[in-house]
Amino acid sequence: MSDIDDSGDTEADGLRKIIHVDMDAFFASVEQRDNPELRGKPVAVGGSSGRGVVAAASYEARKFGVKSAMPSVTAQRKCPELIFVKSRFDAYREVSQQIRAIFRHHTDLVEPLSLDEAYLDVTEDKLGIGSATRIAELIRQEIRAKTKLTASAGVSYNKFLAKLASDQNKPDGMCVIRPGQGAEFVQSLPVRRFHGVGPKGAEKMDRLGIVTGADLAAKDIEWLRAHFGSFADYLYRAARGIDLRPVRSSRIRKSVGGERTFSRDLSSGSELRETLENIIDIVWGYIERAEAKGRTVTLKMKYTDFQIFSRAKTVDRPIEGKDEFAALSRKLLEEVLPLPMPIRLMGLTLSKLERDGPEEPKRPDAQLSLL
Ligand SMILES: [Mg+2]
Repeated sequence: MSDIDDSGDTEADGLRKIIHVDMDAFFASVEQRDNPELRGKPVAVGGSSGRGVVAAASYEARKFGVKSAMPSVTAQRKCPELIFVKSRFDAYREVSQQIRAIFRHHTDLVEPLSLDEAYLDVTEDKLGIGSATRIAELIRQEIRAKTKLTASAGVSYNKFLAKLASDQNKPDGMCVIRPGQGAEFVQSLPVRRFHGVGPKGAEKMDRLGIVTGADLAAKDIEWLRAHFGSFADYLYRAARGIDLRPVRSSRIRKSVGGERTFSRDLSSGSELRETLENIIDIVWGYIERAEAKGRTVTLKMKYTDFQIFSRAKTVDRPIEGKDEFAALSRKLLEEVLPLPMPIRLMGLTLSKLERDGPEEPKRPDAQLSLL
């Protein structure tokens, strides 16, 4: 791996104009927009029953500590007046298409992160406006006019800073981090706000005594590599407000999954079920890390005669958690048992990913091998 060259990075990094746009409390705001009775009230999108989780919370609900991914039972305890509404992904997707059309009015370099979030590279914008700050203001106005919803925007010279900036003055806010301001901006921030540092990453850093960007910037690249492996270079730069990743308008990944080849052939139902559980665990780990949301689960098996067999199930909205992913996977297996002959490989993939736009070119599945 080449050594980090700071000066060159900084120079290359100061030349772009990047905007990160993020809708405010997206699912919950759509529900409040479409049902006036919900406005001004604590609303959670998601199931209220035993194992449900909160998919999104309105700002009124957040005041009580209700957050997305929180078990619904916990959310209800924190906020007894919380109103649960069922998710309506068709409505969310419709808004998503509207905002992406607004983005593409200004640039084709749009990289969606999810239904309601995207990076835009407006270094050269289609309308020749020139100022990224002005473009971000216009986009927020256009979103409000078209969707009756609010969005926040971050403007900066790289993706890392733009994303931090969009979070800075939420909801309905904007923040601009200009060239030369990035390193200072990052210093005082808690590392858990850095994109890519999940709750587990933040915990690990905490154990290593890293709480803020400044703590991270104090570590040298060798130390970071020893503790964070391939993530080290990204962290080293991030701690200095540097990020060289381009805005990618099309994504290579069409699915997330993994498969396993066995050292011996498997045929009994109990062996197959046990193996499936193991693959579910591992593949769900990949899905979480990729922050992928998809609608199709595919079970793939290779028989001892090398014939490949696969079976898929598609649901009409993104799979909401590991339980649902596991249940669909088990159903797929049960439907094909007993098998006509033993197998030597089993795999699971999640596809029809939310983050994939319909305009993207078809590419073969990029599969991660488990073994
Ligand atoms: Mg959002």
